[in-house]
Amino acid sequence: MPLSVIPQGNLPAEFSQRYQAVSGLSTIDFIETLFGDEALFGPVAAVSSFGAESAALLHLIASVAPDAPVLFIDTGFHFSETLRYRDQLVSQFGLSSVKTIQLDPLSEKRSDPSGKLHAIDPDACCALRKLSVLQRALTPYSGWVAGQKRFHSHERSRIDRLEWDADQSKWKFNPLADWSASDLMRYQTQHQLPAHPLAAAGFTSIGCAPCTTAVGVGEDVRAGRWRGTQKRECGLHRPADLIVVSGS
Ligand code: SF4
Repeated sequence: MPLSVIPQGNLPAEFSQRYQAVSGLSTIDFIETLFGDEALFGPVAAVSSFGAESAALLHLIASVAPDAPVLFIDTGFHFSETLRYRDQLVSQFGLSSVKTIQLDPLSEKRSDPSGKLHAIDPDACCALRKLSVLQRALTPYSGWVAGQKRFHSHERSRIDRLEWDADQSKWKFNPLADWSASDLMRYQTQHQLPAHPLAAAGFTSIGCAPCTTAVGVGEDVRAGRWRGTQKRECGLHRPADLIVVSGS
């Protein structure tokens, strides 16, 4: 299908060429290309929350590149179930380069000494405990892989498998962008992937404990995040500085 790119910022000159190079690939071939061919995008890391839907992408990565770098942001507020689930998946899938990253103690003491910033200013808390930590950890990489899918929410309905984050000057990859909830369920069942321990209790999107609730029937997958506020995203997944439209 023809590709229409509407740049809203400074796209790399090679964007369209790179987009075309990967647009026809299957999900698994796309992932293998990201981690196996540095000539195309440079060194790339995956970022995982080890949440309710993380197992599928991690399993796909492990099947073609078990030594791929995977970053886990430990905000200090994760459910204990998430930390145990992280350890379980790492061990079961044989992922050999998972790195837990977190805010340094001095910055924490200076910017959130009471540990209550999440209740006062969640945007500032996410910026401190997630964004700043990830930005530092991504320094050696030219792009990062995330598990976002379009069906998650209205905010994510236009994501593409290849994006450009102009703010950070990095590639952003969403290999499962076009997966549906059924695709995900099928893959998890086919490969007998372990579920997050909180999934059975209605937690369909799992972040930090103070900012996550279970969801009810008919609600968005992410409706339990920052419930009761206007906040929908932590800021890691800023809209890419471009719009990519496949098709006419
Ligand atoms: S999700 Fe909540 S606790 Fe976690 S970093 Fe964001 S505001 Fe802070």
